[in-house]
Amino acid sequence: MVCGAKRAKYPCDMMPSCKNIFAAPGSSHLTARILSGNEIRDQIYAELKKEIAKLKSVGIQPGLAAVLVGNNPASEMYVKSKVAACGELGLYSDMLTPPDTISTAELLAVVEQLNQRDEIDGILVQLPLPKQVNSKRILEAVDPAKDVDGFHPVSVGRLVAGQPGLVACTPAGVMEILRRSEIPIEGADAVVMGRSDIVGKPMALLLMHAHATVTICHSKTRNLPEVVRRADIVIAAMGKAGMVQPDWIKPGATVIDVGTNKLTDADLAAKLFANNPKRLEKFREKGFTTCGDVHPDAAQVAGAITPVPGGVGPLTIAMLMSNTVKAARLRRAGREQGAHTGAPLPPKSPVAVAKG
Ligand code: NAP
Repeated sequence: MVCGAKRAKYPCDMMPSCKNIFAAPGSSHLTARILSGNEIRDQIYAELKKEIAKLKSVGIQPGLAAVLVGNNPASEMYVKSKVAACGELGLYSDMLTPPDTISTAELLAVVEQLNQRDEIDGILVQLPLPKQVNSKRILEAVDPAKDVDGFHPVSVGRLVAGQPGLVACTPAGVMEILRRSEIPIEGADAVVMGRSDIVGKPMALLLMHAHATVTICHSKTRNLPEVVRRADIVIAAMGKAGMVQPDWIKPGATVIDVGTNKLTDADLAAKLFANNPKRLEKFREKGFTTCGDVHPDAAQVAGAITPVPGGVGPLTIAMLMSNTVKAARLRRAGREQGAHTGAPLPPKSPVAVAKG
């Protein structure tokens, strides 16, 4: 399935070194295909709605519990959008909001209660947690069967071993973008910039399992631009605003920009959006903007690229929803099937199949 591809808006003549591999001769626009995360999220939601309806027909309503500790505005926004997505899709959701004075022991008790609640299929503990809380212990306390964030060592181990399981949402979302946009992965040279447990490491593993030749880069990597220049698929996940320059990109490569940075530096904004006056004007009005790790002018060299915002971000929530449905199917379906209806299980959704 090909996602709705849009064309980059940057004029060709603004970047003399560009290789306009997709533009018609004489065209004044350079033309990386814009891989719209919003459109791919909508496809996934449509598939999930069907699967959720089938589960409901056999007496199962998948449920997600979100634990939001304290009053971090960014965390509040993320959790609210996750709960809203549950509502949109017809999933049960519960939001727990303990105070930021909570201790590790108290939060462990909250997680344990959620582990015991049968109507909860997925448990999400929003990070970061307050300093006094041992985050590692909390994440490891989540029942692996309900680990919809894919952070538990059991989930990570399954991913390493190539076994079916719950996979971290952001890298799983990147794979959906690549597959649904029909980007060839098998045999491709993929470079992943960033080696975090949440994004870089699982991303590299997923690409390797999909038969890419994967290079993982980090802050100690020598000659990063040279390494990136070899890549057919570039994944940028460093948290460094606009760091990946257009001339690091092999012409025609696919660029997935995971970076989500709040940009407030006016000089950097002027450099990044020199070819996009409207965006620069908006930045000046508001005093900030959200940008990725990749310089926007890379769209003049790449064959396909994700925008920021509207690229990887929407897929992260979509895959959380997908993981919740998958967890419900794996944990409850067999049991409920016999107990309630005796009806056959609904088939897996395309997303669930793709992720094992
Ligand atoms: P992180 O834990 O801070 O990891 C950053 C990684 O980038 C580290 O491995 C670090 O290397 C590497 N790095 C930092 N500076 C570098 C440099 N100059 N050259 C090469 N590598 C460098 O970040 P994260 O949690 O993985 O997140 C990465 C970005 O993705 C952030 O912008 C975050 O906001 C975004 N994100 C977006 C979503 C979404 O839904 N769109 C989800 C998650 C994260 P070392 O290991 O050597 O320190």
